[in-house]
Amino acid sequence: MKKLLPTSTAGSLPKPSWLAQPETLWSPWKLQEEELIEGKHDALRVSLQEQQQAGIDIVSDGEQTRQHFVTTFIEHLSGVDFEKRKTVKIRDRYDASVPTVVGAVSRQKPVFVEDAKFLRQQTRKPIKWALPGPMTMIDTLYDDHYKSREKLAWEFAKILNQEAKELEAAGVDIIQFDEPAFNVFFDEVNDWGIAALERAIEGLKCETAVHICYGYGIKANTDWKKTLGSEWRQYEEVFPKLQKSNIDIISLECHNSRVPIELLELIRGKKVMVGAIDVATNTIETPEEVANTLRKALEFVDADKLYPCTNCGMAPLSRRVARAKLNALSAGADILRRELSA
Ligand SMILES: [Zn+2]
Repeated sequence: MKKLLPTSTAGSLPKPSWLAQPETLWSPWKLQEEELIEGKHDALRVSLQEQQQAGIDIVSDGEQTRQHFVTTFIEHLSGVDFEKRKTVKIRDRYDASVPTVVGAVSRQKPVFVEDAKFLRQQTRKPIKWALPGPMTMIDTLYDDHYKSREKLAWEFAKILNQEAKELEAAGVDIIQFDEPAFNVFFDEVNDWGIAALERAIEGLKCETAVHICYGYGIKANTDWKKTLGSEWRQYEEVFPKLQKSNIDIISLECHNSRVPIELLELIRGKKVMVGAIDVATNTIETPEEVANTLRKALEFVDADKLYPCTNCGMAPLSRRVARAKLNALSAGADILRRELSA
């Protein structure tokens, strides 16, 4: 019988201090060449071990081999010039210097497939692999070639589909697309964003997920959240269409956010990864707090479709805090499992 309430994380976990500067996004690597390749693999092993030790059911690579969840994927593609940089506003929120699309984008070789095979060798648990979503990718670039967000997103969707098919063949059980941009560009999401996502999952037999959040706990995001008012109803704009899409699982931010939990009703029927761990604070949730969040979600998500999860990635946190949060997630899910089986 399948385990009820399988736990997982949104994706990234902190890297060891010998591999990259802790508690920093885009942290530069501390190793080079062969040592770096080996160091990334070792970090992946440690990250997996920590997830398994904490009792996480669906494990990941903790994104140990990438510097950033979007940039690292794009670095492996041709058609993007990383030397030619422009300052753009990312997700309408903060300025960043980004690379330029200078020609047709394509994927000459697999990006994460070898890493996924390596993870597959290390564990028998179900594994989830995160990729950036097409809309979030285009939002992290300056486009001097297609001159159309929709066209570029479509090209990226095709590339993501190639990568996803090879990840599936490598034994990945769930492929997740990170689309924080879905929380910002509602008209585009409904016009072509969800269609692009469906292009990215075309023909896949493994399960697919989309992760939509309010971002890492960095200042640009926490400042933005302060402007959103007492109720965060962003999900309301995209849920109705997502509910009708082919995506199997929707991963969301819940605990400590101001998202009205009843919005989950709009995706009834989908599997939902419910964020029960706040990644924007060092305060460790108690198991009871985790259970409370999950209990509230249960009013709108059938028990067999509820996947306890973190709100977002934990890369910017300390390892100690991240480990404690993983333990809290497991313990909280356990409380609820006992309640459900009583
Ligand atoms: Zn996130």
